[in-house]
Amino acid sequence: MSDKSYKASCFCGAVEFTVTGEAAATGYCHCGSCRQWAAAPVNGFTLWAPSAVKVTKGADHVGVFNKSEQSYRKFCKTCGGHLFTEHPPWNLVDVYSAMIPDFPFDPQVHVHYVSTVLPMKDGKPKFHDVPKEMGGSGQLLPE
Ligand SMILES: [Zn+2]
Ligand SMILES: [Zn+2]
Repeated sequence: MSDKSYKASCFCGAVEFTVTGEAAATGYCHCGSCRQWAAAPVNGFTLWAPSAVKVTKGADHVGVFNKSEQSYRKFCKTCGGHLFTEHPPWNLVDVYSAMIPDFPFDPQVHVHYVSTVLPMKDGKPKFHDVPKEMGGSGQLLPE
């Protein structure tokens, strides 16, 4: 059990936050929502208990958008840069791995691989949607 903290900030630096300890899960998400929100072909995700994520600066600059009850996406109201996404149904917070450059990102799985626009042949499990433990089909796809 680690109590190491990793720092993150928005694009302009008005908002800073930390994540502490060990991620509950890590991987790559290929879903269309992540792609549109982040304007990136695929996103590294790290999932944390809500208590592990703390805004340490600029809390008043934090905006939130929720297209669905599943994802509350936090961003900086000054620069529009992304911060993290709360997933209330799972009681987890997703911090894109690119936000925490010092975190030793070790992706375990690929999720929503059915939607991929950037196939990644790395030998790791490719879930059609998400694992059964997260309410998905658990179905695997070939690379
Ligand atoms: Zn900002
Ligand atoms: Zn996604």
